Amino acid sequence: MTTDTAAQAAYVVAALLFILSLAGLSQHKTSRSGVVWGIAGMVVALAATVGLASRSITASGLVLIVVATALGAGIGLWRARVVEMTGMPELIAIMHSLVGLAAAFVGWNGYLDVDAELSGSLLGIHHAEVFIGVFIGAVTFTGSVVAYLKLSARINSRPLTLPGKHILNIGALVAFVGLTVAFVVRPGMGLLIAVTVIALALGAHLVASIGGGDMPVVVSMLNSYSGWAAAASGFLLANNLLIVTGALVGSSGAYLSYIMCKAMNRSFISVIAGGFGTPAASADDDEQGEHREINAEETAELLGNATSVIITPGYGMAVAQAQYPVAELARKLRDRGVEVRFGIHPVAGRLPGHMNVLLAEANVPYDIVLEMDEINDDFAATSVVLVIGANDTVNPAATDNPSSPIAGMPVLHVWEAANVIVFKRSMAAGYAGVQNPLFFRENTQMLFGDARQRVEDILRGLDSLDAPVREMAGTTR
Ligand code: NDP
Repeated sequence: MTTDTAAQAAYVVAALLFILSLAGLSQHKTSRSGVVWGIAGMVVALAATVGLASRSITASGLVLIVVATALGAGIGLWRARVVEMTGMPELIAIMHSLVGLAAAFVGWNGYLDVDAELSGSLLGIHHAEVFIGVFIGAVTFTGSVVAYLKLSARINSRPLTLPGKHILNIGALVAFVGLTVAFVVRPGMGLLIAVTVIALALGAHLVASIGGGDMPVVVSMLNSYSGWAAAASGFLLANNLLIVTGALVGSSGAYLSYIMCKAMNRSFISVIAGGFGTPAASADDDEQGEHREINAEETAELLGNATSVIITPGYGMAVAQAQYPVAELARKLRDRGVEVRFGIHPVAGRLPGHMNVLLAEANVPYDIVLEMDEINDDFAATSVVLVIGANDTVNPAATDNPSSPIAGMPVLHVWEAANVIVFKRSMAAGYAGVQNPLFFRENTQMLFGDARQRVEDILRGLDSLDAPVREMAGTTR
């Protein structure tokens, strides 16, 4: 068997492992094995690629590849180990930016180092691949960098609203098509520089125009773009595995974006056009009336007398790392005979499935963790809802106020319950920068402080509620 045949066979194995990985990652229970399949696929892919490359490059080139791989793997391992769960989205965004940058470099390299054997229509196809690769790569690069800056709160999450922003986006796409035709007919560095600059500006503008509440769709969209950027590089490098892997990432990212769009009631086309972010209509501190406060002891008493409780966690639970005491609270209440369930919004937290991961980590049984659609009709018959560090995902303005930046986004109808307790540290707005009328409703009470500490206080409160019961039980024995 030649090295080439062996490498192609290994590529098929790696591609199958990547497909198994995606299948595994699609369900909580199998997600760990999905990650293992993915690692195995990547090891096979790297080994086959280095083996293939070793035929045509010098020993010093091979050393450089091994050093670069070790360096990249080392940095990846270190970042993955130290990253906080809440920092995952920005880490993913910056990873996407690297994929985009690599695709743009591969495209430029394809232009500077054209295979001498290419001629006629094959050369034209090659130049089209170069142009498309550079364009997708550069859009992905700056789009992901802006997403990183927004997600890490280094820049404001509010949408940039340049005058005529849609015209600017469409103009950039039209220019891209025109320049591609010109480049295929008569390739030149000036045209490639022009498309690179246009794509860099377009990527930054598309993501900057989108408001904080719509960022989840942007992250999954960039995930998809990074896949297509990798596939474009695969065509240029004539690497089948890169094409297959890029297409897998591109299409699964596109499907995830579609699911997110449905969950957030957004149009898929608007997302691609980067135009659905609308300016935040109201200031964060808009007067909405008086809010009422409650303390942990009173909350424990309320919970002790409740028959049904729904917990709706959000980003603040992740920040406070409150999932363990929250799981303990659920256990305690269930032991007392209270019906406890969790209501999970599809974009709660900062990455798809964020809350599910945290609750699974704290061993909350899967069967009491329900999706928004499964639980939204049950709030009206619920005694107490605990909103733990959630804000945008429980904001009634999304359904009541058509001028709200989050209007139309489906939210958890927590306000329909008899009592709503909101755990947060202040009256500050959520990620979308919109104030939440829920906090001022008559059946809502605010429990201020770090969510973890407050839940631990409630656990102690429940213990002291139980104490007299236990003492009485002791005396009668
Ligand atoms: P939000 O981000 O809207 O609000 C989180 C709340 O948690 C804040 O109001 C904050 O209030 C509170 N909080 C923060 N730290 C603590 C703490 N230590 N203890 C108690 N409370 C705390 O949360 P949601 O989960 O409801 O919404 C997610 C938002 O993120 C949506 O807008 C979504 O679109 C966006 N997003 C989601 C992504 C995803 O894939 N899931 C990706 C990107 C963005 P305070 O500061 O007063 O404590």
